[in-house]
Amino acid sequence: MKLDVNALRYLTKDDFRVLTAVEMGMRNHEIVPAELIGRIASLKHGGTYKVLKNLLKHKLVHHDSSKYDGFRLTYLGYDFLAIKTLVNRGVFASVGRQIGVGKESDIFEVATEDGTVLAMKLHRLGRVSFRAVKSKRDYLRHRRSFNWLYLSRLAALKEFAFMKALEEHGFPVPNAVDCNRHCVIMSLVQGYPLVQVKELPNPDTIFETILGLVVRLAEHGLIHCDFNEFNIMVSYCFMISWSHYCIDDDEKVTMIDFPQMISVSHRNAQMYFDRDIECIFKFFRKRFHLSFDEKEVESDGSDSEQNGSCRPRFSDINKVSGCLDKELEASGFTRKDQDDMEKFVEGDVEEDPGSDSGEGEDEDDTACPINDATLPLDGLESLSLNREERDNLHEGDLEANQNIVH
Ligand code: ADP
Ligand code: MG
Repeated sequence: MKLDVNALRYLTKDDFRVLTAVEMGMRNHEIVPAELIGRIASLKHGGTYKVLKNLLKHKLVHHDSSKYDGFRLTYLGYDFLAIKTLVNRGVFASVGRQIGVGKESDIFEVATEDGTVLAMKLHRLGRVSFRAVKSKRDYLRHRRSFNWLYLSRLAALKEFAFMKALEEHGFPVPNAVDCNRHCVIMSLVQGYPLVQVKELPNPDTIFETILGLVVRLAEHGLIHCDFNEFNIMVSYCFMISWSHYCIDDDEKVTMIDFPQMISVSHRNAQMYFDRDIECIFKFFRKRFHLSFDEKEVESDGSDSEQNGSCRPRFSDINKVSGCLDKELEASGFTRKDQDDMEKFVEGDVEEDPGSDSGEGEDEDDTACPINDATLPLDGLESLSLNREERDNLHEGDLEANQNIVH
């Protein structure tokens, strides 16, 4: 999705106040009645309607009059609220180019006041997974519904908590800097996703390192569940052409993307563990032509004496060296949060019929052009908010929060 932060410059205190009012209304309304937004924002002289028109023009809210006159936030509106809060907190001062388009996220560079460049991940749960199953579902019989705002916020909260815990336990992950709503700020990995790497001087060493990570995670009680060439970053590489990278000898591996991680006590833990391992084997076999000496496991459970074994087995893992899964349960990311996310991931939940992620793919506010943004480009095209603009945003947020109507 295109994130045009330019509009941030022109949004006033009142604009943010009304945007926050829409967000508040969405806690219990899929479409927030215009009249309720007016009451929450409580602008003088009934100014809310004019402001809503401006927010609509910038695609920060979506108007829906099918049942009643109402509005809901778009992804862009939610992005602006998170960005504004983080800018107010001093976490970063400018937003730069897009560096990644994930399945369910957009990643941008952001820069701090002192010029340090960080990565900003905006979660967009429901963008892909749901659309894939949308056509098969019968809306008239839907049992449960989810709200993309809620799920995207959960995904960000989970990713932040896991990244922090993994870092504290010495795993090679980005440094978790801050989190707000559906947005996670982390250190920028100086490297490329393994999928873009065409040559490795020592593929066996990298292969062993990566496999070792899956095993060590399981020893600490966790399974990544999406451990593949897209979520492993390799650093210290040199570029041969725009789409062709080669790693030099001093390579370093960083793993990313944690919202789908599960505990080793999950009922399907073994299946997910085996799948992560298989992804790595498959990729290295195909891309780097590694051949593996593997013992075949016979149906009676004994090993046939083919060659030496190198494929880690879930049952062999000593899951005592850490209890990260338990630690994380106490981190603010609750059991219920985990259950809600799992239901979504496993397709047991249906979408609010009017929510952003499922509706009109031609809509500008949800469209997600896949571009070449994962290719590194030079320079940070930054947009700075000046101090006055930042202060305005902050005040707007506070004032809106003082006027909640229950
Ligand atoms: P998704 O959950 O949508 O798959 P990811 O976290 O895997 O999102 O990020 C998508 C892409 O964005 C990655 O493949 C990578 O190219 C880039 N990316 C993500 N995080 C970082 C980071 N911290 N530093 C540099 N690039 C990153
Ligand atoms: Mg990913």
